[in-house]
Amino acid sequence: MVVGHGMVGARFAEEVRRRDPDGERVSLTVLGAEAHPAYNRVLLSTVLAGGLTAPMVALPAAEGVTVHPGVAATALDRSARVVHDTAGAEHPYDELVLATGCRAWLPPVDGLAGADGAPAPGVSLFRDLDDCARILDVAEPGARIAVVGGGLLGVEAARGLAGRGVAVTLVHPRTHLMERQLDAGAGEVLAGALRGLGVDVRCGVGAKAWAPETGLDCDDGTRIAADAVVVAAGVRAETGLAAGAGLAVDRGILVNDRLATDDGRVHAIGDCAQHPAAAAGLVQSGWEQAAVLADLLTGADPAARYRGTRPVTRLKAAGIDLAALGDVADGDEQLHVSDPRRGRYGLLALRDDRVVGAIMMGLPDAAAAVIGLFDSGAPAPSDRLALLLGRALPGEPAAAGDPGRLPGTAVVCRCNTVTKNALVAAWREGARELDALSRRTRAATGCGSCRDAVCGIRDWLEHADPSRESAA
Ligand SMILES: Cc1cc2nc3c(=O)[nH]c(=O)nc-3n(C[C@H](O)[C@H](O)[C@H](O)COP(=O)(O)OP(=O)(O)OC[C@H]3O[C@@H](n4cnc5c(N)ncnc54)[C@H](O)[C@@H]3O)c2cc1C
Repeated sequence: MVVGHGMVGARFAEEVRRRDPDGERVSLTVLGAEAHPAYNRVLLSTVLAGGLTAPMVALPAAEGVTVHPGVAATALDRSARVVHDTAGAEHPYDELVLATGCRAWLPPVDGLAGADGAPAPGVSLFRDLDDCARILDVAEPGARIAVVGGGLLGVEAARGLAGRGVAVTLVHPRTHLMERQLDAGAGEVLAGALRGLGVDVRCGVGAKAWAPETGLDCDDGTRIAADAVVVAAGVRAETGLAAGAGLAVDRGILVNDRLATDDGRVHAIGDCAQHPAAAAGLVQSGWEQAAVLADLLTGADPAARYRGTRPVTRLKAAGIDLAALGDVADGDEQLHVSDPRRGRYGLLALRDDRVVGAIMMGLPDAAAAVIGLFDSGAPAPSDRLALLLGRALPGEPAAAGDPGRLPGTAVVCRCNTVTKNALVAAWREGARELDALSRRTRAATGCGSCRDAVCGIRDWLEHADPSRESAA
């Protein structure tokens, strides 16, 4: 029994069916509160920006799984091992998987919420397809929209709306944008890049009150004339069901390396789960957890354990190439380059010669090489500056522009942990186009930021692979 048919619940069902195609070991029932079939939430930013439409982000449906869309679980009775739902039905289970994700948070600002606590007229959150449709209803060229919150989602929303010809003002209460991932210097360069793309960025400014007739009042005394507000002020894990059933909950539902809660028959994965070594709010962690739990619950690998995910965040905003990874601590060896006029910024942090953190903006080749070192844990080249600037060094890790020199173990698609070797193997088995490579390996089906890299490897193989004649 699975509660939640989002990115991780749907992936878990697919992982189970990969290991148990005929349902001989595991019979699956899934409740999904949203009325839509499962879709790729990560790509909503691209839908908002106009690069994709809603039907294009649907996720493949796993066969042999009973899904109840538009039905939410309302209560969990652990002693009877039964889940109750909004349709009045009861679902008995042997093992229960909670994949209830997060909900967007509406801050306590006057006028943002209606009497029922839901967003007031003119206000949209940015979490699901319905939010996206609501925003797109008002996102006509010339419309004025205020985006509240300058984290990853707020920045992506602001950039996407500006690209549609909307007059966007982005207000962020912190001193710089994306403060969870960026230092102040990178935040400044990002703000400059956004301004260059037409977004009015105001940092250190909080929203104070909203009224459709007058606009958004801010805590610095200014008023933003806006027709609508998009709120991207953070998320909260959806833990109500677990807490109501007496399970241990902190920021999320507490789980161990077997993805079990304090009740061994109840598991939690994805954004609703809190594992000590998982990066919160990123799909890669949830998908890795789904694979481990499928190994355990189908019996495919009883020794499988989830040990954590090292976060890499990529901004999906046309015209801005930005990746942030790992952490920087006092005492780390650090290098910085800053070139604000050209929208470039680099920070590299190393410990014992290994990359432990980086911020790379406008440096795509360097970003690929640095992420490769971060993933592999290999020692960084001695010429750190050349690495930071993306210059390939003789006998040292290659830049992204040269797929031939990329090590086979390099992870090309982070969301799905697909290596160059896996892509080469799929190619040799006959997957010749991006779609076929994606179907075979899942590369480029997550945030999509590796699409160009996958195409680069395909093009390189097209010219370089001597086995292509025999495999064609
Ligand atoms: C616009 C946007 C851009 C993003 N970009 C990135 C990115 O670039 N990289 C990245 O790694 N992550 C990104 N994320 C985050 C990513 O989408 C999440 O990490 C991922 O969706 C988590 O999957 P999940 O299944 O845990 O949660 P969700 O996808 O949120 O799914 C949870 C589902 O459970 C349902 N549910 C909740 N309660 C119940 C209940 N009681 N009964 C039944 N169903 C219930 C919900 O309705 C929802 O459909 C982005 C998110 C958004 C909104």
